[in-house]
Amino acid sequence: MTRTATTVWLDGRLLDDDQLHVHALTHALHYGSSVFEGIRVYPTPDGPSIFRLREHVDRLIAGAAAYGMELAYDAQGLLDAIVETVRASGRSAAYVRPLAFFGGETVRLNPGRECPVHVMIGVLPFDGLFAGGVATITATISPFMKTPSRALPSTVKAGGHYTNSIRALADAQNRGFGETILLNDRGEVAEGSGENIFVVRDGVLITNDAEADILPGITRASVLALARDAGITSRVRPLTLEDLQQAEEAFFTGTAAEVVPISRIDDTHWAQEGPITERLRTTYHAVVRGERAAPGPWLTPVGTQ
Ligand code: PMP
Repeated sequence: MTRTATTVWLDGRLLDDDQLHVHALTHALHYGSSVFEGIRVYPTPDGPSIFRLREHVDRLIAGAAAYGMELAYDAQGLLDAIVETVRASGRSAAYVRPLAFFGGETVRLNPGRECPVHVMIGVLPFDGLFAGGVATITATISPFMKTPSRALPSTVKAGGHYTNSIRALADAQNRGFGETILLNDRGEVAEGSGENIFVVRDGVLITNDAEADILPGITRASVLALARDAGITSRVRPLTLEDLQQAEEAFFTGTAAEVVPISRIDDTHWAQEGPITERLRTTYHAVVRGERAAPGPWLTPVGTQ
C-alpha cells in the first residue's frame, strides 16, 4: 500500500495512491467543469470535529446543480462519506477537499450525457495558514476584475471560476503583497482571491453580499452570527474603495485563513489589529476548536470506530 499524506476517497472507495487514476481527457481538467469545497477539521474536546459540514455539503450540491451535474450521493451520503474519510485519515487537524467533476473521454464542451460525474474527497494535513500566532496580511487592489455573476455565478465554487483568482493572486504576490482584492464590474469591492472581506467604519462592521459578485463564505456567515451574539453592530451592503481607505479596521475571512487582520491595502496602512477584529478572530478561533459554545450545531465530531 502506498499512501502519501493525503487520504483520498473516490466514487465510494478509499484508494491508495497507486489506485488513484483519472483519465487524461477528464472534462474538468480541460474546461474547469468541477465544483468543490474547502472544509476544516479541528481538534476539539469531543475529538476531531468538522466545522459547518452541512453548510459546505449544501453549497457543493447547489454548485453541482448549477452545472447540471447529477451526483450519485445526496446530502446525507456526502456527509457520511466525508466523515468516513476524515476518520480514515486519523487526523485531528486537516483540510478536506470534496470535488465533484465531469470525467469522460470527450473534448466536446457540453458534458451532457457523455461524461460520468465523479466525486472525490481528499483529506490533507493542515494546521492553518498562520499556525503559531497572530498574523496580518497585506493586500493590493487587483488590476483584474472579478468575473461578474452574469458570466460565472459567484455563489458557485466551481473549478473554472478560480482562474480569475489565480491570476489576481499571482499578480499581487509578484508585486510583494500577500493577497489581492478584486473589484466587480461596477468598481465595488468584491473579495479576496479566496476570502471575503470585512471593514469596520465608525465602529460598525460592514461586509458585502452575493449582489457584489462574491462567494458568500461560510466563515463570513459565522463571523456575522458571532458579531450579532457579541452585540457588535453590522451592516451588509456594497463596499466601496472609500470604505477600505477610511476603515478603522479591515480583515479577511475564509475557511483556510479564518479571520485575518489586514495591515495594508496599497497606500492605506493599519499599525495594529483593531479591537473588533481581535474580538471576532479570537472568538472564531475558540468556537471552531470547541473551546467556546457555537450559536448552533456547527461542529460534527468524527468519532472513532
Ligand atoms: N471567496 C472565495 C472566492 C473563496 O474561494 C472562499 C473560500 N472558499 C471564500 C470567499 C470564503 O469562503 P468560506 O468562508 O466558505 O471558506
